Amino acid sequence: MAHSMRQISDVDAAIDAGAQDAFAFLERLVAAPSTLGAEAKALDVAAAELDRLGLAVETLPIPAVIEQDPLAGVAQLPYDGGARRVLVGRVGGAVPQRGRSLLVNGHLDVVPADAPERWRSAPFQPVRRDGSLFGRGAGDMKAGWAMLTLALAALDLRAAPPAAQLTVVGAIEEECTGNGTLASIRAGVGADAVLLPEPTDLDVLLRGNGVLWLEVTVEGKPGHAESARGSTNAFDGAWAVLAGLRELAARYEAGAPAGARYEANLGVLEGGDWPSTAPVRARMRVRVGFPPGLSAADAERDARAAIAAAAAADPWLREHPPLVRPDGLRAEPYAVDPGADLVRALSAAHQDAHGTAPALLGTNATTDARFYANAGIPAICFGPRARDIHGVDESVELQSIVDGARTLARLLPAWLGTAPR
Ligand SMILES: [Zn+2]
Repeated sequence: MAHSMRQISDVDAAIDAGAQDAFAFLERLVAAPSTLGAEAKALDVAAAELDRLGLAVETLPIPAVIEQDPLAGVAQLPYDGGARRVLVGRVGGAVPQRGRSLLVNGHLDVVPADAPERWRSAPFQPVRRDGSLFGRGAGDMKAGWAMLTLALAALDLRAAPPAAQLTVVGAIEEECTGNGTLASIRAGVGADAVLLPEPTDLDVLLRGNGVLWLEVTVEGKPGHAESARGSTNAFDGAWAVLAGLRELAARYEAGAPAGARYEANLGVLEGGDWPSTAPVRARMRVRVGFPPGLSAADAERDARAAIAAAAAADPWLREHPPLVRPDGLRAEPYAVDPGADLVRALSAAHQDAHGTAPALLGTNATTDARFYANAGIPAICFGPRARDIHGVDESVELQSIVDGARTLARLLPAWLGTAPR
């Protein structure tokens, strides 16, 4: 790989020198607990950092009509035109070259921290320990933001702006709908290729499964526990529904290549108010993975059929069929061509920085890459080494942020070019 402008050794030295600043930025991001509805502070922290690095920053609203988009998820909260926005930063583009603009998309939302007392340190209080930084979102995916900004700082964009345009998108609701990224795309924010600094152990993620969320309400027959038996208890009905969805997931797996996993997960279960009373109702929130070749509507149809079949086998549920409602993610499967130019360029950059090529992988979950990839724009994930994402004691290995920044600091000038001063 040819290195023009600044010597790459200078850039690597700048990465080393800037690492503590990047870690401090990551700590500020983790300390902004950007769960659903509380994303504003993290957006502000990221916006300030992009501004400091020389990007022109704006925020876009997420219009309420996004919900009518066929690719949208089911909104979890209103888009009030207020603080729940999408961040967009831009730099360069004075000397555009065909096919060489790049968009880096990172989500700023995080999942909640269930059972904070089980964490070694408070989830939203970033703590460094044993070479890692702990906190909810540290891995997924605020560390990716630190990796990106560390590379951008070392490239000194004010002195050496890229020739083609670099756009950075800070999305919300990646974890529940994808509507932040979708809104930015509908507002015309795009590029020739997209990189998402999700945690990938410094490998490259090219594929994602479909993911469907549903809310299922099961009615029970209320009464004293003494007379409540079998399926008249709403929770017994809930187990039957879950078993039906797990059978569906197993059927998906049976028809898929070895290693493909389609999980039906019961994530939330609510109902009941008294140990000696059979609950009137069970409210389930479930997630079902589904394979390539199916749309979210196909998967919803399959899930409804699986739930109906489970209900048909039960005398009470047959008369009181569970109510199924779409809820949150309706993510279509996606796959990027391993031969795409961006994949080759990133592999070459990584090889140059570390002497090895990254592995090309898929995930059994999803990412916002699907919106770009399914529109024909190569969109790959590449980011730091995280542990226990969505779990207890989530963390990121700090050195992997530095290592990833070395790769990005080679990829960006090679891909975008550097404008003459
Ligand atoms: Zn993520």
